[in-house]
Amino acid sequence: MRWKEQKVDEASDAANPAIPLIPLKGLLRSVRTPEFEGVTFHEIAAKTALNRVPAASNMPFTWTVNPTRGCLHSCVYCFARKTHSYLDMDTGRDFDTQIVVKTNVDHVLRAELAKPTWGREHVALGTNTDPYQRVEGRYRLMPGIIQALAESGTPFSILTKGPLLKRDLPLLREAAQQVPVSIGVSLAILDPALQQSVEPGTPDARARLGLIRAIAEAGLDVNVMAMPILPWLTDSLDHLDALHARLAEAGASWVTTGALHLRPGAREWWMQWLQAEYPQLVPKYRWLYRGTRGGFTTYARQDYRDWLTTQARDARRRHGFEKRTRMPWRARADPAKGPGALEETPLAAPPQPALF
Ligand code: SF4
Repeated sequence: MRWKEQKVDEASDAANPAIPLIPLKGLLRSVRTPEFEGVTFHEIAAKTALNRVPAASNMPFTWTVNPTRGCLHSCVYCFARKTHSYLDMDTGRDFDTQIVVKTNVDHVLRAELAKPTWGREHVALGTNTDPYQRVEGRYRLMPGIIQALAESGTPFSILTKGPLLKRDLPLLREAAQQVPVSIGVSLAILDPALQQSVEPGTPDARARLGLIRAIAEAGLDVNVMAMPILPWLTDSLDHLDALHARLAEAGASWVTTGALHLRPGAREWWMQWLQAEYPQLVPKYRWLYRGTRGGFTTYARQDYRDWLTTQARDARRRHGFEKRTRMPWRARADPAKGPGALEETPLAAPPQPALF
């Protein structure tokens, strides 16, 4: 698509600067609407929906589907930011506001799943962008994706921070009777001011606890990714305990905890944020994430991660998670319908990776 062929629909927001013209493959049009101030949607006709995870990756699945690229949730620490540079966009504000939408993703996916060569391996959603960010309310791509996966016999997982998933709970319940389905909710910060600063586009903890409760009440397991735990900001024993208490009370099935990763592409934004908000912590982070030759490394020091693992396990024990017999990533049969087929279903869906 040459730039001059790009069609721009500016919806009644004349104060906005010109919509950036971006050379995207399959671009149909770029749109702005008053409900999403400052955001541009680039609607594309995708040629593929299933993405194969590179063999070198340590992710516990081989396939992903990302109906959008870029994320309105705008988490400062998001290491999917780097993927926007592959589109010739920047990994900061463009990632937060230039959202690429694969408007035909469900149709393309259905065709790919119908191929005789498709092996019905686990497909993960929510690894590179949040599938229930607010944009999903406008485009409604997830219902078609869920149905296509379930009808093809493909197990899948969804990881989100978005209460919009509640809209699709009836569909997910149906899908969970056909294939293993894993639903994960990301929640690691209880303090509203800190959460709004670090994850400015996300629903607050209360809304996400409501989502966890709704999933549990629908008869599905809900696995909470308490990630990232932010050193010196959310790793106090009091915060970890309060977080696990609230999650247990909301009906979470399991909690996975992990320290912040500082990958290139996210690290720069995180350190910039830290310098502005908590400059006294900058030397501590440099020490905790010190790499070779004075640079950074992605992971916090091993002794810190070991300490956090122990604290998280103790918190899970205190709040009853370790006693639960259900596997954390396994879909649960609907108790209202008695013993269901899923109780005999072999484990097929691995836990979600530590993206959030
Ligand atoms: S961490 Fe997840 S929710 Fe946050 S911006 Fe990245 S993709 Fe979106």
